[in-house]
Amino acid sequence: MKEKCPSCRSRAEKLKVTPPGEIKFASEKEIRMINRVIEEKFGVTILRNELVLLNKLPATDKAYEVIVNGRRILQVHFLPESGWIPKLKPEGGQLIYNLGGRGWIIADGKASESIVSKGVNLMAPGVTDAHPSLKVGDEVYVLNPAGRVIATGTLKEVWSSVKRGVIVKVRDSWEADDIFDKESSLEAAVEANEPILKEEAELSVSFIQKTLSFVKKDVTVAFSGGKDSLIVLDLVSEVIDPKVIFTDTGIEYPETVKYVKSFSGDYDILVADAEDGFWRGFEILGPPARDYRWCCKVCKLGPTNKLLKEVFPDGCITFVGQRRYESSKRAKQRRIFTNPWIPLQIGASPIRNWSSLQVWLYISWKGLRINPLYLDGFDRVGCWPCPSSDMWDFEMLKERHPNLLKKLENELSKFLPEEDIKSGNWRFLRKRSPLKFWERNLERWISLLSNEYYSKRFNNLLKSIRKNSESIRIDHRLSLRDEREILWILAKAVSCLGCGSCLGKCPTGALGLGADGKIEIS
Ligand code: SF4
Ligand code: SF4
Repeated sequence: MKEKCPSCRSRAEKLKVTPPGEIKFASEKEIRMINRVIEEKFGVTILRNELVLLNKLPATDKAYEVIVNGRRILQVHFLPESGWIPKLKPEGGQLIYNLGGRGWIIADGKASESIVSKGVNLMAPGVTDAHPSLKVGDEVYVLNPAGRVIATGTLKEVWSSVKRGVIVKVRDSWEADDIFDKESSLEAAVEANEPILKEEAELSVSFIQKTLSFVKKDVTVAFSGGKDSLIVLDLVSEVIDPKVIFTDTGIEYPETVKYVKSFSGDYDILVADAEDGFWRGFEILGPPARDYRWCCKVCKLGPTNKLLKEVFPDGCITFVGQRRYESSKRAKQRRIFTNPWIPLQIGASPIRNWSSLQVWLYISWKGLRINPLYLDGFDRVGCWPCPSSDMWDFEMLKERHPNLLKKLENELSKFLPEEDIKSGNWRFLRKRSPLKFWERNLERWISLLSNEYYSKRFNNLLKSIRKNSESIRIDHRLSLRDEREILWILAKAVSCLGCGSCLGKCPTGALGLGADGKIEIS
């Protein structure tokens, strides 16, 4: 950040946001959603022509911090059972109050002082007035006698009906800052940040040049159709004409596939195609989960390995759009790295140190064409049935592609009870109904184990389990206590999907795919 705005020369202010600070510009659809939520609760339209930023919050489902003209004004949280709900910041309360909105409650001077200095709740004797429509449980903002908002929180009691006790459970307590009334626009933001963007882009380009000066391999860019890899493609193209690798997991949004294909006039696009691997895996291994991501191997690593073996048998360098702010795992990853699962590839991340706001500003600055899903408010544009999706992502999927959501629900219902599907618990292995899951699958897995060799082993195991032994020894090496896990391991052992991802990991090259497309040891 520069000390002064390069455009208007006024002093730059540091804005504190909730970490990790993955900020984007709100789409028109998201602005409409926020306005609707505020109109329903407070009766006024809060967002008009301003530039609105959304900071993604770590929450159980989709949640954003809403930033307008340099101030955090509120948060919106999506709850699957009740939709979007607002949580105001004092600045948001002040905006609503100034516009004549409801939801206010006035504290006397003494109570106001305690709230601001100690962050205490608003108690009954300290209230002097409140909007007549307020109901218990409402989101409210607290005014001091001078008409400044000093806190936000939840109404616990209607003040006129009680003499003592907590009236407002205070969440945030400070005197609202003024919101700048300058006009804001994306164009102005890009203009003000142009020198910083230029600097950052030059650093990334020089990283690409330096990397290519010592890694003498074919040059590729992993392009997923997302915003980060779009920038990497743009930056690498300034240095060299790269080949583009698109991993089509077979469960991509149709818009993403179409969007990536639209680059084929400018680039040589190589497709690592997982075909129907996801659904074949689903049938045998059950639904993936955040803590059970078999599909990343089957739909991403396997097809990529196959493609590289075919096209780049001597290896390649692949520039990727990974950024350290995306996750703690990404933060630990080095800028140039290898992955034992993809031995033919050296990975490099030119935009490792970029924030998502820089990414969006760069896209606007360079006028890059983005995946249309972003314009509709999507944060993720990859696999549509991904267990990492929020329930809000599935709401958006339902709106755009109801048939795809139906397919997912149908497939899930073969494994899980309806409550796990509706609640979204299917996305977490540890939250699924375990008994039903295992009972339902036992029969399927036993049928998989019809192979004579495995069925013998399987029956031996079952006998041991029935004897109630505390631990089971297989080939004198493996000791496991969990009966279910043993069944699972056995089922997996005989149900190779032929994805090929383990071939790359094998240090001696002894693994291969046989004539039936399944794993074979030579
Ligand atoms: S669905 Fe999610 S977990 Fe599975 S391959 Fe796609 S991104 Fe990875
Ligand atoms: S055993 Fe089969 S399914 Fe498992 S990683 Fe290897 S090829 Fe893929």
